[in-house]
Amino acid sequence: MTKSKFARLQEKLVIKQKSAWNNFNEKQRQSIFSFCEKYKEFLNEAKTEREATETIIKAAKAKGFKELESFDSLSPGDSFFYNNKNKSVVLGIIGEEAEFNMTGAHIDSPRLDLKPRPFYEDGNLALLKTHYYGGIKKYHWFETPLAIHGIVIDKNGKKREIKIGENEEDPVFVISDLLPHIGRKTEEKSVREAFEAENLNVIIGNIPIVKDDKIKEKIKLGILSILNEKYGIIEEDFISAEIELVPATKARDVGFDRALIASYGQDDRSCAYTTLKALFNSENRKKTRLAFFYDKEEIGSVGNTGAASQLMERVVEMILRKRNSKKTANEIISKSIVISADVTSAFDPSFAGVFDAKNVNKMGGGVAVEKYTGSGGKYGASDANAEYISFITRLLNENDVCWQAGEIGRVDEGGGGTISYMIAKYGCDVIDMGIPVLGMHSPSEISSKADVYSAYLAYKAFFNTANTE
Ligand code: MN
Ligand code: MN
Repeated sequence: MTKSKFARLQEKLVIKQKSAWNNFNEKQRQSIFSFCEKYKEFLNEAKTEREATETIIKAAKAKGFKELESFDSLSPGDSFFYNNKNKSVVLGIIGEEAEFNMTGAHIDSPRLDLKPRPFYEDGNLALLKTHYYGGIKKYHWFETPLAIHGIVIDKNGKKREIKIGENEEDPVFVISDLLPHIGRKTEEKSVREAFEAENLNVIIGNIPIVKDDKIKEKIKLGILSILNEKYGIIEEDFISAEIELVPATKARDVGFDRALIASYGQDDRSCAYTTLKALFNSENRKKTRLAFFYDKEEIGSVGNTGAASQLMERVVEMILRKRNSKKTANEIISKSIVISADVTSAFDPSFAGVFDAKNVNKMGGGVAVEKYTGSGGKYGASDANAEYISFITRLLNENDVCWQAGEIGRVDEGGGGTISYMIAKYGCDVIDMGIPVLGMHSPSEISSKADVYSAYLAYKAFFNTANTE
């Protein structure tokens, strides 16, 4: 039967809402599933920015990447890493021509940090006071088993790593919530009032160290004594320490068809992992390829490890010097093409009202291309140029990568930002492109494996291209 004129017209003119799953044959689907097994391992291994930096450098070294400072000069084909204070990292492969293809993802995620003086004792319990990091819904963190990750520096300046709660036999740490039986008044409060930040106190012990009534805070003392025995640290050392509480859970498959992944930290380690893999598996003789893995995105990209720092200029400058180039970092970056690789929201059928159903990314709809993020009338958005968006979407089509385009939610419903505007200040073309997730910033963010793989293919096509228009 031949298609009607209008069926042909529809096929030619109208956007098709595809499922990325249908873009892959049976063999490719197997590749997706094995790719995501490694991805889940990465999520479990790299739960903090420090751990992600370490894991990325380890993977780079295994691929033959060497420390940038160790090169006297750089030639096409050389691959390097630049470790920025153990909390952000840049990987690069040198090409013949001057312009760069660059991606930027972030490796910090919302969590609970310890306050400088976290230890106290109350109600026969030893507890830790926390200060949340990034935008969290505080109630998610009550009654979620937590693990402690981080570093403490002792009196002699020796760095001690702490990681408790990840092994089956480890203890975990929990913030208690009020029982429903006596929670009536709390339930009448607004969510913000019912779950206060100052109630995010973590239970860490219950045994008094002695019977002696002259000794104060015997349970807290017992905990400090355990920590001193194990790590040689004292209470004062926690003033300088960086200790983060993250969900103690592991990345798991979701659904009877195992199509989805639930895990902490997929914002933005999903894009960190896929840009990392894309860089490793890319080929491009002409262009220098750089992958940035930033810290501090969740609190505004500030600090000397965030995207608002001069890390990008510094690394590009170092490359130029080692290539005996007379060009400035600014000149090079302004002519480069960049992808801000960050997650975005996916349509949630249970909360349909906050989305514009006609302009939203769907789970399994492929990698999400976003012209702008921001909130309240594109405020704070980088707003990519038409020419560059067209360049990127043509690149995706040529490489048969399934993609979709949407906004984070309804206009004036809220919004969010990425690092793209901080990179756009150099004058380069930059666009947000990443994986749609459900429950972003929760302890159990959900992604679709087809989108994770589509993002990987998209970033690989981007690293591979020698074109800029
Ligand atoms: Mn993000
Ligand atoms: Mn975020």
